[in-house]
Amino acid sequence: MNMDTRLLDEKNEQDIKEAGKILRRGGLVAIPTETVYGLAGNALDPTVSAQIYKVKGRPSDNPLIVHIADIKELPALVEEIPEAAKKLADAFWPGPLTIIMKKSPLVPMQTTGGLDTVAVRMPSDPTARAIINAAGVPLAAPSANLSGLPSPTSFPHVCDDLMGRVDGIVNGGDCEVGVESTVITVVTEIPRVLRPGGISVEQLRRVLGRVDVDRAVLEKPAENAKVASPGMKYKHYAPKADVYMVDASAEDYAAFLHTHSEAAALCFNEDVPYLKNRCVPYGSAADSLSQAHGLFTSLHHLDEIGAKTVYARMPRKSGVGLAVYNRLIRACAFRIVTPNEQLVIGLTGQTGAGKSTVAKQLKARGCVIIDCDAVTHDPSLYAGTCLTELQNAFGRAIIKEDGSLDRRRLANLAFASEEGKAKLNAITHPV
Ligand code: AMP
Ligand code: MG
Repeated sequence: MNMDTRLLDEKNEQDIKEAGKILRRGGLVAIPTETVYGLAGNALDPTVSAQIYKVKGRPSDNPLIVHIADIKELPALVEEIPEAAKKLADAFWPGPLTIIMKKSPLVPMQTTGGLDTVAVRMPSDPTARAIINAAGVPLAAPSANLSGLPSPTSFPHVCDDLMGRVDGIVNGGDCEVGVESTVITVVTEIPRVLRPGGISVEQLRRVLGRVDVDRAVLEKPAENAKVASPGMKYKHYAPKADVYMVDASAEDYAAFLHTHSEAAALCFNEDVPYLKNRCVPYGSAADSLSQAHGLFTSLHHLDEIGAKTVYARMPRKSGVGLAVYNRLIRACAFRIVTPNEQLVIGLTGQTGAGKSTVAKQLKARGCVIIDCDAVTHDPSLYAGTCLTELQNAFGRAIIKEDGSLDRRRLANLAFASEEGKAKLNAITHPV
C-alpha cells in the first residue's frame, strides 16, 4: 500500500471538515481520541470495515468499536438499550467506556467480526466528536497501529505505522488517557468487563453493583479457547525487545537489575536514581493514571533506543492500574520473573477456627503477621475520600457525631441487600 496521506490539523476547522468529507465518501482517517488514536472509517459500510482490517493487518474475527457523538445515534445501532447500558451511558459517556449490546441489522457483520453484538462508545475528545459530526455517520475506529504493535498515543507514532496506508491523519497532540477504553458487555446476565481501560472496575461497580471481570483480563487464554472479547487472544502491544515483568519491591527490583546490567529497565520514575541500567520510566509508582498515560509511549521508546531485553516493574492492579497491568502483561507475553519470591499464606476460616492460634505459631517461627481485622478496624483507613463516598452511598446516618464512621450502622445498611454489599465492597476494597 502506498497512497497519498493528507496530514490534517485539529486546530484547523477546514481540516476537520476535510476529514469528515473523506470519511463520508468511504475513506480512512486516523483521528485522535482521549484514549489512543483511532483508525476511523464509516462503521455502516462493510467494504470500509474490510479495508480497516486490511490496513491494520487485523484478524477479521476481532470486532471494531463503533464511535458516536450523540446518544441519539445509539438506538439505530442496537436491538434494545438494556437498563444497565442506560445507567452506564448516563454515568460515563462521553468517555473511555465501550458498551456491548445486541446489534441492529443496520450494523454490518464485517464491523462486528461476525458477532450479533456491537461495541459502542461515545468519546469525550472534542476533535473526535467534531470529526464524527462532520462525517455524519458512526465511525468504526480500532487503535491506529499495525496489529500486534503498541497502540499510538502521539501523532508521530501514528505516522510511523500508517503513513501511505490511509487517506488522512489528524494531528491532535498527545492522548489524555493513554490506554484504550474499558469494554463491558451488558448482554450477559451479570455485566462483565472484557477489557479493563480508562474507567475502572471499581467505578463501574459503584454504578451497577455487581460486575464480573473476564478471566482473560489477567490470565493467558488457553490455546484455542473461546474468548468473549476476541481481541484478548492475540499477541498485543509488543515492542521489538523481549520484555519480562518483574514482581518485586523497589529494593529487590534494583538488586535484580544490578545483576542484569545489559538489560533496559521499564520502571517507575522513582526507580531511576537507584538503577545503573538504561531506564525508560513509564509513570509514577503510586499513580496509575500517569502509568496509563506513559505506557505506550515508553514501549515505543524502547524500540527507539534499540533495547533487546527489558525488565518491567509490575504495576498495581487496582483502579486504572488493572488496564496498565493488562497491556503490560501482554507486551511481556505473560512472562513474570519473581527474583526474591516470598511465600504469602492467607489464613482464613470461620470464628473459632483457630486462626489466632495458628498465626501465633507462625509468628514464633519468624513470619510477619498482618492481622486484616485490625487493619480494617483502623478508623484512619476510612478518613477522607472513602468516608465521603460511603456517606454518598449510604447516607449521613453512618457518620458519628465526632465525624468518624459508625461501623454498626453501616453494616446494618450495607449487609441488608446484595446491591448494598457490592457497593460497600466497591468503595472499601480498593482502600
Ligand atoms: P481496539 O479497537 O483495538 O481498541 O479493540 C477493540 C476491542 O473490543 C477488542 O478487544 C474486541 O475484542 C472488543 N470488542 C469489540 N466488539 C466486541 C463485541 N461485539 N463483543 C466482544 N468484544 C468486542
Ligand atoms: Mg488495538
